[in-house]
Amino acid sequence: MDPHLAAKIAAGEVIERPASVVKELIENALDADARHIRVEVEGGGADRILVADDGHGIAAAEVELAFRRHATSKLRTESDLDELATLGFRGEALPNIAAVGDVVCSTRSLQDPVGVELRLLAGAIEQCPVARQPGTTMSVDGLFARFPARRKFLRARSAEAAACVQVAAQLALGFPEVQLVVLVDGREALRTAGDGNLRNAFVAVLGADAADHVLDVPRVCLDDERGEAVVEVDGVCASGSFTRAGRSGVSVLVNRRPVTNRTLTYAVVESYGSLLPTGRQPVAAIYVRVPPAEVEFNVHPSKLEVKLLRERAVYAAIQRALRSVRRGARFSAGRRR
Ligand code: ADP
Ligand code: MG
Repeated sequence: MDPHLAAKIAAGEVIERPASVVKELIENALDADARHIRVEVEGGGADRILVADDGHGIAAAEVELAFRRHATSKLRTESDLDELATLGFRGEALPNIAAVGDVVCSTRSLQDPVGVELRLLAGAIEQCPVARQPGTTMSVDGLFARFPARRKFLRARSAEAAACVQVAAQLALGFPEVQLVVLVDGREALRTAGDGNLRNAFVAVLGADAADHVLDVPRVCLDDERGEAVVEVDGVCASGSFTRAGRSGVSVLVNRRPVTNRTLTYAVVESYGSLLPTGRQPVAAIYVRVPPAEVEFNVHPSKLEVKLLRERAVYAAIQRALRSVRRGARFSAGRRR
């Protein structure tokens, strides 16, 4: 198969829509230890997506390599895969993004005195020096413009933009010490404080009206047979008086990574039980920590799905943590009124 065609097909698995680009680029910024990340989404992300960070940047000598398939600086041996500490590890995002949009990458590493700008436009690559602060700015223009069939599957611009904000919000919950600002067509759609305070991040994501309803979920630890901690759960949640129609307000993060897992989401919903008004769903951000070797993120290219060695224990820990919140007086206060 023509390598260019193969690249197009592979790209479709990871980059399904603008929100996939936003997710991969924010994850890269987080992996680079950024403290401030600015995201700009224009025209639902199809016109332009820009992610700027103040992380450690890419060395001028390596920036072209970063766009090659399976080029990752995060994984060196097979055993690293069992001890993942970074969000990325496949080395596929950048080549896939460059396969479906026009990418301009401007970056400067902490060691380099000047930065470099790499332009990947329709297969051609140009590189030139650029003056800038350490960090990285990636912009992706005309996403799927060369793929009319794919572009047709995009939803309305507002829906695609909302999905981009949702992805950013989930990552912001996982990294409350990082400030994330998202602009949609120039208007601020999300701004976290980046002060490390989980409650503040939660309220930034859910809106100021959530502030009066936020409760801490106390930490629950479960040990294995040898007495070693294998599951740790905590987080924040809203009381039964602040709910949503759907389950989009339930976030579960495993080792800081937002995941979609119906079983664990259900553990949260079920814990609220009769405290939820009929037809309403809870709002919570639950943090699960397990040993890296006991979790598999490599199930699907998007890494949203997760396999847990001790899923039942995690389920039990979530329920135990939320039940102890439920017993608190403030939890159902809104309902009695
Ligand atoms: P992965 O994240 O799986 O390693 P990517 O294709 O997303 O693969 O990125 C390739 C490489 O480019 C990364 O391993 C990293 O070295 C570098 N890189 C990408 N984005 C950034 C960034 N924002 N800051 C610093 N380095 C980056
Ligand atoms: Mg990555």
